[in-house]
Amino acid sequence: MYSYTARPSLLENRTILITGAGQGIGKAIALSCAELGAKVILLARTASKLEAVSKQIIEQGYLSPIIIPFDLATAKDKDYIQLAEQLSEQVNQLDGLVNNASIATDLKPFTELSIEEFQQIMEVNVNATFALTKYLLPLLQQAADASIIFTSSSVGRKGRALWSAYASSKFATEGLMQCIADELKETSIRSNSVNPGATRTAMRAHVYPQETVTDNPLPEQIMPVYLYLLGPDSIGINGQALNAQ
Ligand code: NDP
Repeated sequence: MYSYTARPSLLENRTILITGAGQGIGKAIALSCAELGAKVILLARTASKLEAVSKQIIEQGYLSPIIIPFDLATAKDKDYIQLAEQLSEQVNQLDGLVNNASIATDLKPFTELSIEEFQQIMEVNVNATFALTKYLLPLLQQAADASIIFTSSSVGRKGRALWSAYASSKFATEGLMQCIADELKETSIRSNSVNPGATRTAMRAHVYPQETVTDNPLPEQIMPVYLYLLGPDSIGINGQALNAQ
């Protein structure tokens, strides 16, 4: 596991947007960030799941989250522009953007994958990440030291049979991260990727139904690398591909 111990006030005065915050790894990131003092902005499709995470955070006495029900599969330019405009009316700056939401297909040979399935994966995992990062950049530029996290995978670093669409989307995510990190290297914004590693979530259970889920760590257990990247201890770390486990 990545070794880092976050101090209790690590993320005070920071506003952090997490995509896919309704469940799994994104939910754990939201809860951990709130616990360390951040104001979190929760984005995913299912409003009820975001409301449940928000309720949990408020009940624990942390800062009240902002909820954004938003479909990354269907959003167009105007939706991202509207999202950025609405957010800028509610917050002065964005100190962290965690591009965590993704989808995966069932494992199958590329010859059995339809063009639509391939495109859908790229839409959510890559195109939406590009669009969100692009349109939220002005808010990230308002922060003293903003951190952007891109979510990779082991198959985003080395391809494997049966993973063609998802792996392609994660290689593209790494490429996007590297280009943005290089373009912004003279600024105060850092960009890095995280490979969570096998983690006990709905996505993992769907892709590997035969697996004994208890073999894998819970999302709460893989938080150290995310907290390191979102707090000031990682200032100067840019363009790196990190592993949570
Ligand atoms: P989950 O499937 O548990 O959660 C995915 C989240 O993304 C949900 O909150 C979901 O919410 C949201 N999401 C999916 N589609 C959309 C959409 N169209 N618009 C907005 N939000 C969407 O996944 P994990 O927590 O397991 O994965 C988190 C990240 O970690 C992903 O990038 C995944 O690729 C990566 N990863 C995970 C591994 C694992 O073992 N779990 C291993 C390697 C990488 P909703 O459906 O409500 O929209």
